[in-house]
Amino acid sequence: MLIVMDHAATAAQIAAVNESVEKMGLRPEAIPGSQRTAIGVLGNQGYIDDSAIRNLAGVREVIHVSKPYKLVSRDFHPDSTIVKVGKVELGGDLPVVMMAGPCSVESEAQMLASACIVKQAGADILRGGAFKPRTGPHSFQGLGVEGLKLLRQAGDEVGMPVVTEVMRIGQLDDVCRYADLIQIGARNMQNFDLLKEVGKLKFPVLLKRGMSATIEEFLAAAEYILAEGNGQVILCERGIRTFETATRNTLDLTVVPLVQQMSHLPIIVDPSHATGRRDLVPIMAKAAVVSGAQGLMIEVHNDPAQALCDGAQSLDGAGFTQLMLDLRQLKF
Ligand code: PEP
Ligand code: MN
Repeated sequence: MLIVMDHAATAAQIAAVNESVEKMGLRPEAIPGSQRTAIGVLGNQGYIDDSAIRNLAGVREVIHVSKPYKLVSRDFHPDSTIVKVGKVELGGDLPVVMMAGPCSVESEAQMLASACIVKQAGADILRGGAFKPRTGPHSFQGLGVEGLKLLRQAGDEVGMPVVTEVMRIGQLDDVCRYADLIQIGARNMQNFDLLKEVGKLKFPVLLKRGMSATIEEFLAAAEYILAEGNGQVILCERGIRTFETATRNTLDLTVVPLVQQMSHLPIIVDPSHATGRRDLVPIMAKAAVVSGAQGLMIEVHNDPAQALCDGAQSLDGAGFTQLMLDLRQLKF
């Protein structure tokens, strides 16, 4: 439930509303906003009888929120959230943030060469997977903690914050030690225990959309993180599973403006996993920016033909440099 107060509501009237909410065994939460004063009501499991609230002095409107997410919704938080990753800020009307790097950390030389390429081309955040959620157990599973160290080392060398995936709670300590942004991958979007644990941290999170998740499920997953107190969440559209097999997934760009209407959280697009094809990545990256994406995540490898993971969708140095030049033409 959302209680919207009159513009002229006094502090005493707001306090009286808060008190009534608490008497009902619920939790009032002040909602910061430039346009209005509002109070979000949390802690209910179903419909709330609002008769004790509706007629209190200073109350303009009571809105019942039946969606499975509240804290992530614009109703509860009208101003766009800005997420800080190292010194990089992402969200709202800020310039598009570029995250780029190899699918996986493979070696010191590969990671550093890839880092140099993306840094030189102008990327903001370096990516590299150390714990890899591979479809089959015989594929390269990542270097684990050793990979985290190599990613950190490369990031420090070129002066970029780093993002990497965490697959389970037991990896969180190590990932937080070496990374600046924690990625929760598509396959773990509904790993609710992991979401809750990450929600208890003061650490920015990149939450990828599950491969068959609806927008409502996507936002409800983010709600788990916010509900535990961590509001620094970036959403990422990375393609969904459809009947189409010509591309690895189907890039759903409508989710970008839709999420921005529904939520204050920033959303970025990963055209690499969405298409699975290097030739389609640049054009879909541009389309994503035009659709309003606040960032991009692009797989870049110093030698894609030799990549241990996702080489077919990885850009090389020349390809990524050209993409960055083309994106600048869009004046993002
Ligand atoms: C990745 O970014 O390396 C990855 C595995 O992505 P997704 O979870 O979107 O498949
Ligand atoms: Mn990948």
